[in-house]
Amino acid sequence: MTKKKNSMDKVYVLSDFDGTVTVEDAAVALLNEYCPMDWYEYVRKWERRDTTLRESLKEMYEHIIATKVQVEDFVGKNVLVRKGFPEFVRWCDKNGLGFTVVSEGLDVVINKVFEKYDVDAKVLTNRMLFKGNKVTIEFPETPPLCHHDDGEICGTCKSSHVKRLQDEGWTVVYIGDGKTDVRPGSLADVVFGRRSLARTFTEQGRYFFPFENFVAIRERLGNILAR
Ligand SMILES: [Mg+2]
Ligand SMILES: [Zn+2]
Repeated sequence: MTKKKNSMDKVYVLSDFDGTVTVEDAAVALLNEYCPMDWYEYVRKWERRDTTLRESLKEMYEHIIATKVQVEDFVGKNVLVRKGFPEFVRWCDKNGLGFTVVSEGLDVVINKVFEKYDVDAKVLTNRMLFKGNKVTIEFPETPPLCHHDDGEICGTCKSSHVKRLQDEGWTVVYIGDGKTDVRPGSLADVVFGRRSLARTFTEQGRYFFPFENFVAIRERLGNILAR
């Protein structure tokens, strides 16, 4: 725990999707399959701070050439969730913990995965619209929440949702694996991290729990809540 609060009885879990809920990054898999250009250039541009996250996501995702049916078929066939994820969502629900997926990925992808695994959970993410095989991206979760001192503009502002929930009195548990999880993770009360989130937190000397799957998270969280 990074910040000790008096009570853990109002707990909200926010989880990243790609590479966190899923074994592999589904958005990356989709780009590799349907984006006929070097889409990673947009990631590099963002990493150099030559563009905002929102702009780079829009550029990148709108270069995908695929119909909604193609995207859903691809996701249905190729995307797997980490062990224990559907059970974890039901466990949160049964135990009064809030649960929402916060993602810089794509609603069509996440909805398809939830359908495949029979998961019913809230999702805050970017919207993928189709006209034939042309893709347009909208950011329904951004305004008016996203304000960052360094000028960053998110697609879906994960950190704003951490802050909003904390303002409402929730203890926020954040689960993530990537660069866009560092900012919200730094604000959260408890963090589960993998990959680049884990590396950054280790470098910064921040406390977090490493995880491989949602069985381990449920056990660890169960222990924390029982204290
Ligand atoms: Mg991720
Ligand atoms: Zn933001």
